[in-house]
Amino acid sequence: MPGKSRKKTETLRPDTTLTPVGEPEAEVYVWGLPGCCLRSFKEAVVKLGGERRLLELRCSCERAWQVTSSLDDRVLERFVTHGGPRVGGKGMGWRRTPSHSI
Ligand SMILES: [Zn+2]
Repeated sequence: MPGKSRKKTETLRPDTTLTPVGEPEAEVYVWGLPGCCLRSFKEAVVKLGGERRLLELRCSCERAWQVTSSLDDRVLERFVTHGGPRVGGKGMGWRRTPSHSI
């Protein structure tokens, strides 16, 4: 078995949505992200690791994004989703953890 797989699986489902942190109304689809942020997002998703899920995506351009919804299992495994009923402020963000068993 070859030790390293350089295969880039950069195919993400297009139905992931994100919002800029602090701007919950400015929701965009993942393909609507600025190029650098999309790249960062893909890197974060493709990068496998046993770390805990990320609360937000931080790009080198200093933008920060929260995933609001996704049907992509890899995205869901890497990011905490902030979707569901709108929360009116900071603090208790989400009340239920989507437990998705496959
Ligand atoms: Zn960026």
